[in-house]
Amino acid sequence: MVNDRKKKNEAKAGRLWPMERIRNFGIMAHIDAGKTTTTERILFYTGRIHRMGEVHEGAAQTDWMEQEKERGITITSASITTVWNEHRLSLIDTPGHVDFTAEVERSLRVLDGAVALFCAVGGVEPQSETVWHQADRYGVPRIAYINKMDRVGADFFRALRMIEDRFSATRPIPLQVPMGQGEMFNGLIDLIRNKAVWYHEESLGIKWEEGEIPNDLAETAREWREKMLESISDYDDELMELFLEEKEVPEDKLRTAIRKATLDSKIVPVLCGSSYKNKGVQRLLDAIVYYLPSPLDRGAVEGRNPNNDKPEHRLQDDDEPLSALAFKIMTDPYVGRLTYVRIYSGMMRTGQMLLNVRTGKKERVGRILEMFANKREERKEAFSGDIVALVGMKDMRTGDTLCAHQHPILLEPVSFPKPVITRAIEPKTKADQDALTNSLMKLAEEDPTFVISYDEDSGQTHISGMGELHLEILIDRLMREFQVQASVGNPQVAYKEGISRPAKGVGRFVRQSGGRGQYGHAVIELEPLDVNSDESFVFVDKIVGGTIPREFIPAVREGVRDALGSGVLAGYPIEGVKAILVDGSYHDVDSSEMAFRIAGSMAFKDAAKKAGPFLTEPIMRLEVVTPEEYVGDVMNNLNSRRAKILGINPRADAQVIRAEVPLATMFGYATELRSMTQGRALFTMEFEHYRRVPESVQEEVIRKVRGY
Ligand code: GDP
Repeated sequence: MVNDRKKKNEAKAGRLWPMERIRNFGIMAHIDAGKTTTTERILFYTGRIHRMGEVHEGAAQTDWMEQEKERGITITSASITTVWNEHRLSLIDTPGHVDFTAEVERSLRVLDGAVALFCAVGGVEPQSETVWHQADRYGVPRIAYINKMDRVGADFFRALRMIEDRFSATRPIPLQVPMGQGEMFNGLIDLIRNKAVWYHEESLGIKWEEGEIPNDLAETAREWREKMLESISDYDDELMELFLEEKEVPEDKLRTAIRKATLDSKIVPVLCGSSYKNKGVQRLLDAIVYYLPSPLDRGAVEGRNPNNDKPEHRLQDDDEPLSALAFKIMTDPYVGRLTYVRIYSGMMRTGQMLLNVRTGKKERVGRILEMFANKREERKEAFSGDIVALVGMKDMRTGDTLCAHQHPILLEPVSFPKPVITRAIEPKTKADQDALTNSLMKLAEEDPTFVISYDEDSGQTHISGMGELHLEILIDRLMREFQVQASVGNPQVAYKEGISRPAKGVGRFVRQSGGRGQYGHAVIELEPLDVNSDESFVFVDKIVGGTIPREFIPAVREGVRDALGSGVLAGYPIEGVKAILVDGSYHDVDSSEMAFRIAGSMAFKDAAKKAGPFLTEPIMRLEVVTPEEYVGDVMNNLNSRRAKILGINPRADAQVIRAEVPLATMFGYATELRSMTQGRALFTMEFEHYRRVPESVQEEVIRKVRGY
């Protein structure tokens, strides 16, 4: 016991950073807003890399994978550690493309705070809106950084108004205003210190100068400082007094009050800069330290005891039993499979045995690595609040909980949307079959929205995901990283089937062929559930008087499940049904589980045919940002795609068209939009819900599937 305690104290002495000085944060941004550039500048100013790589050269530090370099998008959620102002910052990478919303969700789970990055020209783009709402859902405090202040058309105050309009729940409070905008942008005014800040271009912004606010901006600065003080004093009585008495407010008091209001998600401090032109990034780093939460500020983590399902929690404290969440599995070219974990409570050591709650098995912690931009540091132990990568874990999946085996806890798993698009895939040569299967399985372990299935009828392997680009990137990785040559079919929509009215069906499976026969008989009533409800299937047993013996009822349910996999219209999975087993009969000798399973399946199919079956399809929410002159063409084109236009609004110097559109009509849209608008329009598309397919389209889909 004494020994134990001694060991623990020694270990804790190994803690390099007190928890108050840890910031785990992410940057959330619309694609192209400048997240990669900003990340890269953060690493440069914090001294972790020594040469600024430009994004268009593909040299930025977070973009690890080949195709990310080519496409200029960041799709992995790796975490990078760096140090600023005696604080350890772990930057958790969040992807900007809508196809990867699941990746965003998973990173939001493990970070404590976020920087919402906007472009000063585009302002709040659709994707930033989605991510902002996701961050609301996870209660992640954040600061806003309005980047690209140097671009022609940059307008800080317009971007600010957009944040105010779109996100009414939190109040954006500028802590800075720009000095000049667009080409005239040459620094900023720090409203807290009430000073102007100029950056030295030659030093790549490493050096700056603080001075008096220029006369022409004095009035603007006074007005915004006043607004800032007024809003913040709403959250702090002492500040309110000073403010009302018109006394000077000390800087540290002001920062403490801003921190408190930010942590309570009452306000969002707003900063500005141009990462590309090396202005404003160090103050963004200061703000991350000043205003974003440390793990301690986030309180206890909730979960359940896997043995009795009772709620449990763990404080973020080294003395608590260990709990950690695996939020990313990655294959690293140098060290192999890496499992990124966030430790919530307790501590872990190399060599320790930990319980993986999902598998119920213990695994030994191999090596513990802390990932910096340009190197990995080996660690003997890791503590509450740390984000580290583990090497040598065997059976881990994204979303798994690791914990001390004497104190099991299952942390709330990350929820993932179901895939909406499918492609058939086969190896180029028979010899590649095993390699293909193994590689696909590895990719699926890393990414829970990537699903592999095998179609017995056609003998084909199918891969499914969240969008065209999502699958394309995975196929690309298959060929590059795993060196597997495969041919893939055209993308297909993942339709589903549903039923429109109640119906009753009978299944009778009887075989009398010499020896022992087969006998199963089931009567099932079906009722529709909402196709988008969380429950896709409910089974109710209403057998009375033993017309079907107890032991055969699970077999009937299995039979119904079998039938759900392949619908009666076109073979798509059926969702949204309640199946009620109401009657049946049995034979003393001939009845078996197998016979009842088949009877259940037959009864379900019989009922489904009479229940007004229909197809449902994924409907996407689409936003197209296009210059005015192409609005007509874009709209006409959308109308031909069964789109429902929800609105057209001006934004900066462009128009934004919002629409709902079936995924089925959107294949190849990127190319078409590009040629229609000389590449000047952008679009984002995201899964919204499943909806019933119109009658005429349904017939066509069924005809295609049945091949006539
Ligand atoms: P991401 O998609 O959000 O990671 O954006 P990137 O960092 O890749 O930036 C997209 C493009 O915007 C690149 O061509 C950058 O050079 C450019 N960019 C990024 N930040 C700024 C900025 O502050 N000002 C200007 N003018 N361009 C920028």
